[in-house]
Amino acid sequence: MLNKRSIALCLITFAATSCGAILYAAIQQGLGYSNTPIIPGTNWHVHDGDRPQPRVVAPAATFSLGAPAPADAVVLFDGNDLSKWQSGNGQNASWRVDSAGFMETGRGGIRTRDHWADFQLHIEFATPSQVRGERQGRGNSGVMFNGMYEIQVLDSYNSKTYPDGQCGSMYGQTPPLVNACKAPGEWQTYDIIWESPRWDPNGNQIKNANVTVIHNGLVLHHKRDYFGATDGIGGVPHTSLGVYRRPHPPEVFIELQDHGNPLRYRNIWLRPLGEYDKAWNDAVK
Ligand code: MG
Repeated sequence: MLNKRSIALCLITFAATSCGAILYAAIQQGLGYSNTPIIPGTNWHVHDGDRPQPRVVAPAATFSLGAPAPADAVVLFDGNDLSKWQSGNGQNASWRVDSAGFMETGRGGIRTRDHWADFQLHIEFATPSQVRGERQGRGNSGVMFNGMYEIQVLDSYNSKTYPDGQCGSMYGQTPPLVNACKAPGEWQTYDIIWESPRWDPNGNQIKNANVTVIHNGLVLHHKRDYFGATDGIGGVPHTSLGVYRRPHPPEVFIELQDHGNPLRYRNIWLRPLGEYDKAWNDAVK
C-alpha cells in the first residue's frame, strides 16, 4: 500500500519522466511531426505532416520499364542471381530470387559489392500488390547510397504520409516534385543520376551529394543537394536534421533497404558518368 510519501515520489518520478519524454522525443501528430527541427531553407519541420502534399500525376504506361542495359553498363541484377550484392555484414545476399526474374526483400538490406562515385542508375520495383499497413508501414523500402542517403521507396498510391517521407522523397529533406506512383503491385522505374559529396585532403567539405530522380518518366528532383545523411540511417537519429557526419570516399555502394515489407526489385544497371572530353582525349593518344 502506498503512503503519502510514496505517492508524492511516484508523482515526481512520473512528471520527470513525462517531461523527459517531451523534451527528447519527437511526437507524431496527424501525418507527421511538428516539434522536430526546421529544415534549412524551408519553413517546414523534419517530417512535417502539414507540408504540402506533392501533386498527383498519373504516369504513362511505360517510360524506361524493361529498358535493356546499354553496352557500357554494369549489370547489377538481370534476374538470375545476386552475385553483385552482399548483406551488410559481408555475407552473400540472402534475398529470394524468383524464377520470374525478380528479387524480394527479406532478412535485412543488401548492398552492392562494388563502389562508384558518380553514376546513372536504372532500377525497377513493385510495392506489394496486397496492401497491408499504412503511411510509412505501407510498402516501405529504399534506394540508399553508402548506407547514408536515401531515396524513399514506398507505396504512396492513394496513401498519404509526411511529404518528405513519401515515395521518391529525399527522405527527411525534400519531398518529390510530384507523386508519380503506380498502383500497388505494378512495376515502376527509377532512373537516378547520383553525384557523391567531396571533401578536400584537409577534411573540408567542398561539394554536397546531389541527385536527379525520374520516377515512371516524371522528374522528382533535378540535381538536388542532400544537406547531409538521411535521418534514421547512417548514424543520424530519426526526426533529427540530416548532417554530413564525416568525410567518406566518393566511391559509394548502393543499398536496397529491407523495412519489413515484401518489395520486389528487378532489372538494375548502372553507368559511371565519366568526364567530359576524357574519352576523346584517350582516343587520340
Ligand atoms: Mg525507406
